[in-house]
Amino acid sequence: MAAYGPGLIALLVFLGLFPPTAPFSERFLTPLVALGGGVFLWLDGRKAWGLGLLFLGLGDLAWTLEDLKRLPRGLLLEFPYLAGYAALTWAHLKVPGERPRLSLLLMPLVLLGLASALKPELGIDRVYSVWDALLLLLLLPRLEPLFRERLLGERVLWGVGFLLFLVADMAYAFLEAGPGYPTGHPVHLLWSLGYVLLTWGVAEEGRRGNTFWGQALALGGLFLMPALLLHDPTPWEVRVMALYGGLVAGLGLLYANHLEWRRTEEKNLRWTRFLEELARLSPSVTQTLSPEAVLMGALEATRHLLPQAVGLEVRGRRGLVGERTPHSLAIPLNGDTAYLYLQGPLEEPVPPSFLSLLGERIRQVLRQVEWGTLALTDPLTGLLNRRGLEAELPKLLALARRYQAPLSVVMLDIDRFKRVNDTYGHPVGDEVLKLLGRILQASVRREDLAVRYGGEEFLLILYGADRLAAKEVVERIRYRFRHQRVDPIPYPLTLSAGIAGGEVPEGEAQLEDWILKADYALLRAKETGRDRVTLA
Ligand code: GH3
Ligand code: MG
Ligand code: MG
Repeated sequence: MAAYGPGLIALLVFLGLFPPTAPFSERFLTPLVALGGGVFLWLDGRKAWGLGLLFLGLGDLAWTLEDLKRLPRGLLLEFPYLAGYAALTWAHLKVPGERPRLSLLLMPLVLLGLASALKPELGIDRVYSVWDALLLLLLLPRLEPLFRERLLGERVLWGVGFLLFLVADMAYAFLEAGPGYPTGHPVHLLWSLGYVLLTWGVAEEGRRGNTFWGQALALGGLFLMPALLLHDPTPWEVRVMALYGGLVAGLGLLYANHLEWRRTEEKNLRWTRFLEELARLSPSVTQTLSPEAVLMGALEATRHLLPQAVGLEVRGRRGLVGERTPHSLAIPLNGDTAYLYLQGPLEEPVPPSFLSLLGERIRQVLRQVEWGTLALTDPLTGLLNRRGLEAELPKLLALARRYQAPLSVVMLDIDRFKRVNDTYGHPVGDEVLKLLGRILQASVRREDLAVRYGGEEFLLILYGADRLAAKEVVERIRYRFRHQRVDPIPYPLTLSAGIAGGEVPEGEAQLEDWILKADYALLRAKETGRDRVTLA
């Protein structure tokens, strides 16, 4: 229906400028529009609304016939109107609402409608304007979500349509009491427009189409209302009602639009932050590269868009960060699946592009972690290799200089390792290397670096350790190494070590110098009989 929007708006402007006042237009336009809308909504499956408009259309038609003296005036004429009002009331009650706050600004209109009950000269018509007021009261909670959650375009349409209908109706009560309501007064356009907007809005409910033309039309209708109701000499009640209703509802609509615009801005900002963080996501190197750090980063990025995300897990791998909850979103990872855990169920579905973007980025960075791990670590022992040392050393150096912490450098070499290889074969030698790798990893702290420096030479860089502390660490390693056996070597294995540094490093050149010195100290340990630690 949005396709007809521009045409309808043009028609509205035209009608506002040149309202047709011929009795013909009033007598036939209003019932025809109501009946047409009723049939349309009935066929569309909106039975209660459809029935309401159908009966109102029949009522309008009966009123026209009575006006033309084709039907006698009597209570029978009122039946379609009463049935229509009942159906509309029922249709309203089925629409969920919220506790009214901003919509309470329309309350004075309700009071004005109720005030018509005090005019006995209105006769049966008092029932309608009082019922109008009660319907307006029912409308308030249904309009409130416009100001809170999001702008519901279709709700704007039928809300405004209904408001036009109700105000025109209530105004009628006052007009008749005042100077009278001449047949052909352009106020009938408000009824017709009200029926059109109501039909359009109810039919669009749940379809969530483009709402621009609908809103423009609703706004146009709200300004048409005062224009038409002030048309002829009119009692003050009607003038106040028209100006007030048009102004409040128009401003309300603009305000709801403003809120929606701000929400969109915020959403864009959250998306930007999410994308920025996702782009910055990279493998972070600690002792070895960790997939957990990647998942943590991805979770942090996700929280910009979904603050209720509390955990992220890749099933096929080791990774879980945060916590598991019963509410999860599956993220396809190309073969594997990741799960995003949420604090509670989602209110709005997330856009599919979000999940595929997140999944693709996690997959990429985890792949980088894998390659990085391969490139920077030694496959046999799992320790850093020389390249890993190069990558890590600047970070450790910076840390030590920032906190003025000493670094110690330890060079280790297994004693008479050639003999192990020659006697028991290379595979046994490899087992010995693996064992020492495990011992080293278990003996140093998180910040320390353990490197397979050469074939069976190992380098340790110990953070926050002076030479004495370094010596203690090495003694612990020697003790463990000596007391663990590797089949089928019957004798205890020993190693020699040289220690250098033990101060706050001045720069990378000094560290390299310490490595040389530690190597030299190791040589002296070998020369003086092996199985010992020498300080440079
Ligand atoms: P020293 O006490 O003087 O250190 O005597 P050593 O026999 O240990 O002499 P050296 O340190 O020079 O020995 C190096 C040997 O380590 C040479 C090589 O066979 C062995 N090696 C180096 N890398 C590997 C490896 O990856 N696996 C095995 N099984 N042996 C290795
Ligand atoms: Mg050796
Ligand atoms: Mg050696």
